[in-house]
Amino acid sequence: MRIYDTAQRSIVEMELDDHVGMYVCGITPYDATHLGHAATYLAYDLLIRRLENMGHTVTLVRNYTDVDDSILPKAAELGEHYLSLAEREIDRFEADMAALRTRPAAHEPRATWSIDAMITMISQLLDAGHAYISEDRVFFDVTTFPDFGKLSGYSADRMIELAAERGGTPDDPRQRSPLDFVLWQASADGEPSWPSPFGPGRPGWHIECSAMSYAALGETIDIHGGGGDLVFPHHECEIAQSEALHGAPLARYWVHAALVSYQGHKMSKSLGNLVFVSDLRARIDPRAIRLALMAHHYHTEWEWFDSEGLTAQRDLDTLVSAGAGASPAAGSGDGSSGLLAEVQAVLDDNLNAPMAHAALLDAAAAVQRGAAGVTLRRELAAAADLCGIDLSSPLATAAP
Ligand SMILES: [Zn+2]
Repeated sequence: MRIYDTAQRSIVEMELDDHVGMYVCGITPYDATHLGHAATYLAYDLLIRRLENMGHTVTLVRNYTDVDDSILPKAAELGEHYLSLAEREIDRFEADMAALRTRPAAHEPRATWSIDAMITMISQLLDAGHAYISEDRVFFDVTTFPDFGKLSGYSADRMIELAAERGGTPDDPRQRSPLDFVLWQASADGEPSWPSPFGPGRPGWHIECSAMSYAALGETIDIHGGGGDLVFPHHECEIAQSEALHGAPLARYWVHAALVSYQGHKMSKSLGNLVFVSDLRARIDPRAIRLALMAHHYHTEWEWFDSEGLTAQRDLDTLVSAGAGASPAAGSGDGSSGLLAEVQAVLDDNLNAPMAHAALLDAAAAVQRGAAGVTLRRELAAAADLCGIDLSSPLATAAP
């Protein structure tokens, strides 16, 4: 299977053992799941489904960042305990993921459950000379990790600029160099705080994933994923911490999903134009959401238009009518139409979901024209199932 590896900056043939360990950075549970999350997690879901279909066993680990610089202010604004906010949003996220029929994660560690592991890692980084204490904070010293920047390939100036935009503190006088990043910090008034050898406080964001991925999957993860905006600083910092400590690659392959915009604008919380999965689910069948997202390639930035939901609902209707009643089998015994093999082949080519989407709809059109026999109907059901779309039940919501 070929995939675009961010670190190698090219499409590479993945060489994987029977068992595949995958770590995908999860959500900060302070708001509902939006379409950008769904696009990201469904891309990895498609990857997992195809790997399982090829005979691999996949262990998916997807964390919850239930303490960081985003959830704490939101909880304070709502006058709510941050963990009760997290609990509610995790429930909503899980309901959305279940409705979208994503393969379940084997482990869903929460940052607040993993504080001891983070403290251990920070202590080891201090002992090894990769970190330093400055006033009430512990920083990672990037000068001790010459490969810093190897994942993104960004220049130091670009990294400093992005760090300032994405939660870093390049101007903090407590740090020695602008790209050093926080491993541990004193908590502000009202924020949660844990005891540690470097004073009471809370972890920095990046160390959370290094500690949680190491606990669940060991030194080297086969495939590490997340949204494209995590390449820098989050994943670059994860690499620095983990590789400085373990002397082994953090991940063999890095797979990132591209940004999703909304009708001409960046989809963002500050613009107030987030498209929530729960709102879409109220209007269209969750399988239609999957189908709509399959029309876009995970690695290319794209825009969502509201009309796509209705188009996908109609397309799902076509697929369900064509595939209904056919048991999803590969057509053995009465020949093969080649549809399943075609869908497998396009998925193997850097997860080309738009081509798989087109192949499914072409096959459904052939069935509707009466130009196909039971074999194609069975393969259509099997190919849709491989893409996470079960054609055996009627549409959940009628198209308005
Ligand atoms: Zn992460």
